[in-house]
Amino acid sequence: MIGAMHRHRYSESAQLAFTWALVAALKEKSAQINPVHLLAGIVQEKPRIISRRKLARVGLVLPRSELTEVAQFIDSRSGGSEARSSPAQGFSFWITGSPSPTLRRAAEIARRYSESQGNRSIGVIHLLWGIYQADKALRNKLQRAGLTKSHLDSLCRSYKDGEEGESAAELMEKTGHRSSRNGIGYDLHRLEAGRKLILGGVEVPFEKGPAGHSDGDALAHAICDALLGAAGLGDIGTHFPDTDPKWKSVSSLMFLERVRQLLDKKSLRITHIDAVVIAERPKLGPHFSAMRGALAKSLGISPQQINLKAKTNEGVDAIGRGEAIAAQAIATLEG
Ligand code: MG
Repeated sequence: MIGAMHRHRYSESAQLAFTWALVAALKEKSAQINPVHLLAGIVQEKPRIISRRKLARVGLVLPRSELTEVAQFIDSRSGGSEARSSPAQGFSFWITGSPSPTLRRAAEIARRYSESQGNRSIGVIHLLWGIYQADKALRNKLQRAGLTKSHLDSLCRSYKDGEEGESAAELMEKTGHRSSRNGIGYDLHRLEAGRKLILGGVEVPFEKGPAGHSDGDALAHAICDALLGAAGLGDIGTHFPDTDPKWKSVSSLMFLERVRQLLDKKSLRITHIDAVVIAERPKLGPHFSAMRGALAKSLGISPQQINLKAKTNEGVDAIGRGEAIAAQAIATLEG
């Protein structure tokens, strides 16, 4: 069953939505749990996401009465106040139902989408996203009921691990099991005479420097992208668009500080960063210690967690002719 596949990853509310979905399927004497049943479960669990009234207006009447009866039953057994935590313990039947192929696909989409956002748990809103993507007929009705893709997307983006109750994944984390993730970053800047060469937040004496909207720090930019990539948070252009005057001539270390805040919000910790700077000249090795210090300070980590390497391009191509400088980085996060 669906819950058995990823049960440890679902938030408490998502697990309850599955429980309600099974009840809805039982009510219809359906051998399978389908996306409509799960939608009934989602609405039961999170009535504020989309109301039954709006759904009814577009002809989607979800099973209800039995759900309410079960809710009352649970309520009476738990004395009312602990109703939210009781069903997960008291109702094991939610792992025995059989999901329809579409629901299985919806659950897989929900899992992937939640992961792509850097979450550890899968919430109710991700399940709704999964249904939206997997079931075209249901999507049309949801759209007519006013649930647009962008609204749903913004709800998914504001999801925070733990806000719907802790998943088992979070309990695992508490007992010391953490997951690790990697991200890759690359950047290149043209070099022009009369510009300062800033790399890793440090000014390196040279006759040329990078053209760019900010200070053109290719190393800092590659590291930014590696960190954002590992966190599933897009790329540097999304967060600091070069069309925004706010970022003109700004120190790229500020980007790193902002990225660090984004990682903090997701409870992600930087384990290690490795980077290569590719430039024909000047010699960079003597400056690496200062660069590691500056980068580490902005990221709130120790310089030992940053490794820097330098390469030339053997005189080949634009980099080899000294017309450009490039950097590659890989970041490892834990969380
Ligand atoms: Mg750049």
